[in-house]
Amino acid sequence: MTDTPSGSTSNSGTDFIRDMIRRDSSDGPHGGRVQTRFPPEPNGFLHIGHAKSIVLNFGVAAEFGGVCRLRFDDTNPETEDATFVEAIQADIRWLGYDTGEPLFSSDYFDQLHRWAVQLVEAGYAYVDDQDAETISENRGRFTTPGVDSPWRGRSIEENLDLFAQMKAGEFEEGSRVLRAKIDMNHENMQMRDPVMYRIRHAHHFRTGDAWHIYPTYDWAHGQSDAIEGTTHSLCTLEFDSHRPLYDWYHQQIGLGADRPRQTEFARLNLTHTVLSKRKLLQLVEEGHVDGWDDARMPTLRGLKRRGYPAESVRDFCSQIGIAKVNGVHEIELLESFVRTHHNRSALRRMAVLDPIEVVITNWPEGQADTREAINNPEDDSAGTREVPFSGRLFIERDDFMMDPPKKFYRLSPGREVRLRAGYFITCNDVELDAEGEVVRLLCTYDPATVGGQAPDGRKVKATLHWVSAEHAVDIDVALYERLFTDAHPGSDGRDPMASLNPNSRELRVGGKAEPAVLDTAPGEVVQFERLGYFARDLDAPVLFHRTVGLRDEWANIQKRQNKG
Ligand code: ATP
Ligand code: MG
Repeated sequence: MTDTPSGSTSNSGTDFIRDMIRRDSSDGPHGGRVQTRFPPEPNGFLHIGHAKSIVLNFGVAAEFGGVCRLRFDDTNPETEDATFVEAIQADIRWLGYDTGEPLFSSDYFDQLHRWAVQLVEAGYAYVDDQDAETISENRGRFTTPGVDSPWRGRSIEENLDLFAQMKAGEFEEGSRVLRAKIDMNHENMQMRDPVMYRIRHAHHFRTGDAWHIYPTYDWAHGQSDAIEGTTHSLCTLEFDSHRPLYDWYHQQIGLGADRPRQTEFARLNLTHTVLSKRKLLQLVEEGHVDGWDDARMPTLRGLKRRGYPAESVRDFCSQIGIAKVNGVHEIELLESFVRTHHNRSALRRMAVLDPIEVVITNWPEGQADTREAINNPEDDSAGTREVPFSGRLFIERDDFMMDPPKKFYRLSPGREVRLRAGYFITCNDVELDAEGEVVRLLCTYDPATVGGQAPDGRKVKATLHWVSAEHAVDIDVALYERLFTDAHPGSDGRDPMASLNPNSRELRVGGKAEPAVLDTAPGEVVQFERLGYFARDLDAPVLFHRTVGLRDEWANIQKRQNKG
C-alpha cells in the first residue's frame, strides 16, 4: 500500500461508488436523489471498521446533497439492547456526524409481516417443519443440488394458517420457519429457499413480547431500505452473494425501477488487531482487556480513551479509500494520522516516567526560578509557559549511565548536557544506596547558559527533559504495545487469541510531571517531551495513556517497502 497521511478531511472523491452515483445522478433510476444508511445491529460497540462505513455513507450523502439515515437493524432480540442504541449514537456523534432521529427495523415488523403474507398468498413462501440442521443439510453444496423440503408443496391455505399460528406463538422455537420458495437448485446458495422468519419467544427491547417470529437479516434488510427510501445500500463484500436475493424480494413486493440498489465494498481490516464484534466481545469477557472502552481496543470508545482524535479516524478512513477487494491496512498508517494531528496541535509538557534525583550543588539556597518553555514549536499561537525550576530536579533514570558506551551522549560522570529550556549541567559525583545503585546525581549548573545556550559557544550533545522535584505532580502512565503480536491474528485458520500480546499494556506508577500537566482536560492529549503523545484518562485523574510514540514508524515501513 502506498497511502500517505495528509491533514485533509475532504474526500477527493473518485472511487467506484462515487463514480456510480455520479453516473446515476444524470440518468439513474432515482432521479438524482441520494439516500444512504448506516445499519448497525445494537449488539455491541462500534469499531474502526464501522467508522469506515460511517465515513463512506455519511460522506457520500453529504457530497451529493442527500441524506444518510442511522437505522438500527434490531431483529435479533436475544443479543440486542437499548444501551447499545445509546452508545452507538454517541459514538457516531463523537466521530463527527449528525445521526438525526434514528430509525429501527423493528418499527417495520408489521409491514414486513404483511409483505410476507403477500408472498405466501402468491405461492412464493411456505412454512417448513424441518429443523435448522436438516434445512442446512438439504440446501446442498455449491456443486450439489439442494433437496426439496417435504413441506414445500403445502397449499397456500395451510401455509397461511400455519404462519398465523407461528405469529401467535403457538409453536416451539425451532419447530418451523417461513421460507421463500425460489429454487433449490439455484447456483447461488442464498437463493435456495432462504429462511424469512424464525420462531423466537424472546423479549425484544422495543417491541416487548408482541412478536413470536423475527425476520432474518435478508428479509428485513432490503425491505427496510425500501421503506425508508434508501437509494444506495452500501454494504461489505460478504453480502455480494446476497444481492440477487435482495433484488428478488424487491421484485416480489412489487417495487419499481426506483428500488434501492445494493453495492458492496471491501471491509476495513487492520494489522495487529481484530475487527469483529464477536472477537472483541471475547477479549472483554475473558478479561484480556478492561472493557469495550479499554485504550487497546479498536472500538471508537477505545480509540477515544487512547487519545485518537475523531478527525484523524475520519481522515484515515477517507484516505485509504474504497476498494472492491479485501485488504489489510497497517496500523502504523492509522497511527501516523494521529501523530501528524497531535504534532500540529498538542501542547508540549515535561514529565519523567522513571525518575532519578538530580541535586544542583551550586544552586543558591532557596532561590526561586521559573523557565520559559515553548508550548508548541509547530504553532506560535500556543505561546509559552513558565516551568518551575529549582536546585532539586528529576530526570529520566535511563538518561544517565555510570559507564556509558561509545554512542551514549546523555548524562554520565564528568559529562555536560542541556536541560530543555533550562541550563547546562555537569555531573560531578553520584550517591549510591546500600546495594550500590545510583540514587542521586550531584551536578553543578552554569548560570550563564540560562535558556539553553552557552555564551562562549560551547556545545553539548544531548538535551534532557526534567521536572523540579518540589513542584512536581505525581502521575501514572499506561504504555502500550500491539494487542496481538501477529500482524494478522487468526489468519491461516489459527486461533487469533493465541497471538494475544501478554505485554500489550505496561502500567507505570510514580511518574513526575510539571504542574501544568494537571491543567489538561480529561481526554486531552499533550506531548511529553521526548516520550510521545499522552492522553489524560477520561475517568482516572492522574492516569495518562501513551497515544502514540514520537517516531514515525509508517515512514520506516514505506522506506523498507521502497527498498524491497
Ligand atoms: P461485526 O462483523 O464486527 O460483528 P457487523 O457487520 O456484524 O460487524 P453491524 O452492526 O451489522 O456489524 O454493522 C453495521 C455496518 O457496518 C454494516 O453495514 C457493516 O457492513 C459495516 N461494517 C462492519 N464492519 C466493517 C468493517 N470492518 N469495514 C467496513 N464496514 C464494516
Ligand atoms: Mg452484521
